[in-house]
Amino acid sequence: MRSFTYERATDAQAAVAAVSRAGAKFISGGTNLLDLMKLDIEKPSHLVDISRLPLRDIEELPDGGLRIGAQAANSDVAADARVRTRYPVLSEALVAGASGQLRNKASTGGNLLQRTRCPYFYDTAAGCNKRDPGSGCSATGGFNRIHAVLGASDSCIATHPSDMAVAMTVLEAEIELLGADGSVRRVGIADFYRLPGDTPHIETVLRPGEMITSVLLPAPPTGRQIYRKVRDRASYEFALVSVAAVVSTDQGAVSEARVAFGGVAHKPWRSIEAETALTGRPATMATYRAAAEAAMRDAVGQGHNDFKIELAKRTLCRTLAHAAQAS
Ligand SMILES: Cc1cc2nc3c(=O)[nH]c(=O)nc-3n(C[C@H](O)[C@H](O)[C@H](O)COP(=O)(O)OP(=O)(O)OC[C@H]3O[C@@H](n4cnc5c(N)ncnc54)[C@H](O)[C@@H]3O)c2cc1C
Ligand code: SF4
Repeated sequence: MRSFTYERATDAQAAVAAVSRAGAKFISGGTNLLDLMKLDIEKPSHLVDISRLPLRDIEELPDGGLRIGAQAANSDVAADARVRTRYPVLSEALVAGASGQLRNKASTGGNLLQRTRCPYFYDTAAGCNKRDPGSGCSATGGFNRIHAVLGASDSCIATHPSDMAVAMTVLEAEIELLGADGSVRRVGIADFYRLPGDTPHIETVLRPGEMITSVLLPAPPTGRQIYRKVRDRASYEFALVSVAAVVSTDQGAVSEARVAFGGVAHKPWRSIEAETALTGRPATMATYRAAAEAAMRDAVGQGHNDFKIELAKRTLCRTLAHAAQAS
């Protein structure tokens, strides 16, 4: 690990001012960043600790939504009674991630910005465009069992690992950002993450020095919310495929549906194709299968991960059947 300097920010404005110096980075829970520093993948020369900023609260919004502070721990968000009753898909996604100890440390802002779990990204002897732009992609043609089947590029086929972000995608959350000049802006989560294109090292639309201060959840959508995660073992494992869904039925037909996938792309993958195939159709397995086919129409396997395409379809069907039954 390289040497670095450290300071603890006392307020949000001081934090963004401090991080504007060259080589500086925010640290929240440190559960991802410190691992990456130990492996010499992230190399900050200065850490600005934002974990003690007063951004831990979960507050009611006038429109019936919630504001989740960027420093709210994953475990606190998952356990919050308002989140559990009004946004169960978020609570379920959070509890499906990592372990109890990690969730106690992991922050909402840090979870959104965690890096991919592509093994070549972690192996500094391997070429990786995300880690070292221009060095190639070892996963393409390599061992790519956990990689993307949608939205990938010749430069990078990595997936985004967050469960929480997938649930926030079906909830149409907005992310509030504070800039170094004191400006505040909000970005919808659908526009927050980027596809890899030929710049996979640029993962979000965050501007240099911007800090996530909160996540805003709009009033809960109507319908049953469900998060289903499929992984290699029952806990403490990232998703091979996950589905977040919100489904309403009326007289045996799907009246409204929202669907997002995790584990299939460089970002949480909202499937408008699946939603269109569901809306107004009978709430039957034939409809769910048609939606699954629509969702994966453009999916491309990389070899080892070909199984993910069928897995994603089946996971969606199971999730929809469960949601419709209970709605
Ligand atoms: C063994 C293990 C298993 C895991 N399993 C899962 C899993 O199954 N599902 C899952 O979703 N996650 C999983 N995780 C990942 C875990 O959820 C993340 O490590 C955690 O959420 C990151 O939050 P943090 O506060 O520790 O971020 P940090 O490590 O402190 O920061 C991560 C990044 O975000 C930046 N950052 C942090 N806060 C802000 C902010 N407010 N504004 C701007 N930038 C910021 C930092 O500069 C850094 O680049 C796992 C992690 C481990 C180690
Ligand atoms: S998939 Fe992306 S992260 Fe993995 S080796 Fe290729 S460029 Fe690197």
